[in-house]
Amino acid sequence: MKSYRKELWFNASRRREIIHITPQVEECLRESGIREGLCLVNAMHITASVFINDNESGLHSDFERWLEKLAPEKPYSQYAHNGYEDNADAHLKRTVMGREVVVAVTEGKLDFGPWETIFYYELDGKREKRVLVKIIGE
Ligand code: ZN
Repeated sequence: MKSYRKELWFNASRRREIIHITPQVEECLRESGIREGLCLVNAMHITASVFINDNESGLHSDFERWLEKLAPEKPYSQYAHNGYEDNADAHLKRTVMGREVVVAVTEGKLDFGPWETIFYYELDGKREKRVLVKIIGE
């Protein structure tokens, strides 16, 4: 069995940003040389998410508005976590959107369903953060 590991780095200029990362993950798969197996992609930070959904800007605005209703960023004082930090909302949003995705690898390609696309969701940005790509198989 082959094993491949790579970290993808991001530095979002805004507090929250949805970044399309399918091309980088496909590049990892090419580098790995793996034809059959599994590809894990996970945020390495507890205030960011990796998720799969449609690459459609209206939907991305809907995610943003929905998450703001569930866990509004402000006022910061509403959260017990916000002692010396102000990112409690980001921890909660990340829990809703999830930590990772796993995609099957078939004949050297990511075996997606219709319209499936991988995104990194930065929820507390303006600093360097990482995504782990781990691919196993043969
Ligand atoms: Zn925190």
